[in-house]
Amino acid sequence: MNLDYSVEELAFREEVAAFIAAECDSAVSEKLRRNLELDKHEIVAWTRRLNRRGWAAPHWPVEWGGAGWTLVQQMIFRDEIQRAPAPDLLSFGVSMVGPVIYTFGSEAQKRRFLPRIANMDDWWCQGFSEPGAGSDLASLRTTARRDGNEWVISGQKTWTTLAQHADWIFVLARTDAQAARKQQGISFLLVDMRTAGISVRPIKTIDGSHEINEVFFDDVRVPLDALVGEENKGWDYARFLLGNERIGQARVGLSKARLARIRTLLEARSAGMTSLRRNGFAARLAELEVELSALEITQLRFLSSRTVPQPGRPDPLASLLKIRGSEIVQATTALMLDIAGLDSLSGSAESGQDAAGNQDAQELHLLGSAAASYFNHRKVSIYGGSNEIQRNIIAQAILGV
Ligand SMILES: Cc1cc2nc3c(=O)[nH]c(=O)nc-3n(C[C@H](O)[C@H](O)[C@H](O)COP(=O)(O)OP(=O)(O)OC[C@H]3O[C@@H](n4cnc5c(N)ncnc54)[C@H](O)[C@@H]3O)c2cc1C
Repeated sequence: MNLDYSVEELAFREEVAAFIAAECDSAVSEKLRRNLELDKHEIVAWTRRLNRRGWAAPHWPVEWGGAGWTLVQQMIFRDEIQRAPAPDLLSFGVSMVGPVIYTFGSEAQKRRFLPRIANMDDWWCQGFSEPGAGSDLASLRTTARRDGNEWVISGQKTWTTLAQHADWIFVLARTDAQAARKQQGISFLLVDMRTAGISVRPIKTIDGSHEINEVFFDDVRVPLDALVGEENKGWDYARFLLGNERIGQARVGLSKARLARIRTLLEARSAGMTSLRRNGFAARLAELEVELSALEITQLRFLSSRTVPQPGRPDPLASLLKIRGSEIVQATTALMLDIAGLDSLSGSAESGQDAAGNQDAQELHLLGSAAASYFNHRKVSIYGGSNEIQRNIIAQAILGV
């Protein structure tokens, strides 16, 4: 098996990099580099530029706006976005509910929602997890009951990422409490966030940011055509969605960019370090670079062996990429934190605003955001299904344990 990129793939990488350099606002890249939160309008503007180029939903079927790329091209695209950095495609619409709609939804749902997802006219969030139903998602207690020509939804979702910006939420709700297995009584519903009875309460994370929320449904009435596919088949659609979600979670481009910044930082600060300390950091950096290369090759091998140019059924190998990718992301933020030492507590998220072009100020900012970044990235081994759950999947589906 040839694991090198082909000439065409290398040319494609250059094409993507050139597009990002020309089209992504430099202030947005700078914010991402400094771990600052993006405003909603910045993400929307970037997505619309991608959409004009036909790249906002590249993995979708071409008839719905997909780019017709191979899986390797999709990976190169993701890596270049993360390396630049430019905003990642917001997964909730384009990678989660979009594929569910074009695979299981009605024609009316496809026509209504897919173009709006690609152009980010609708911002989606994911209403799966509940207090007491995370890893054991099938235990969810939010209900949807039919009442005339409406569903009435009651319950609570939690950890709902960016719900504060969302126009729509896709919800798993129990529609048959008597089903023989709890997985069999769940349906998948599309809900307008402006519907009466929905309220959103922020959850502040340890790094001080506001990414996640609780979402409450208090007798929320939505039309019957909010249902995707068949009633009580929502578990199948949710599993399909979660498998797709994991494929993008190796985050090779992101880790590459962070390791390059660590290398620059280490060189700049090494004069003030003992050789023992400097060599220790250099060894950790080298080890991470090797591990990341191994992950990149594994990802390439995985994608090359898949023939379908779009996410298909959940593949347990995606769990392997998710585990290793998230471990490396966490190890890079830990290394950055250790190099920054006490400077990581200076909290320079604000002071970085005026640092453009000034090497020392940029370095200070990077150090000052190291602690926040370290704490924030503890999440990557939890969301999308925790790493322990991914190990269970590998044990059952690959090792047959
Ligand atoms: C930052 C962030 C954003 C998120 N965004 C969203 C979102 O937008 N929408 C959404 O629906 N959800 C979201 N989630 C929820 C996420 O999917 C859940 O947190 C995750 O599935 C774990 O569930 P839990 O938090 O209930 O933990 P629990 O399921 O209670 O697990 C607690 C611990 O026990 C371990 N554990 C549990 N069961 C097993 C088992 N069988 N074997 C071995 N170990 C086990 C877990 O690995 C974990 O370490 C988000 C989570 C985070 C942290």
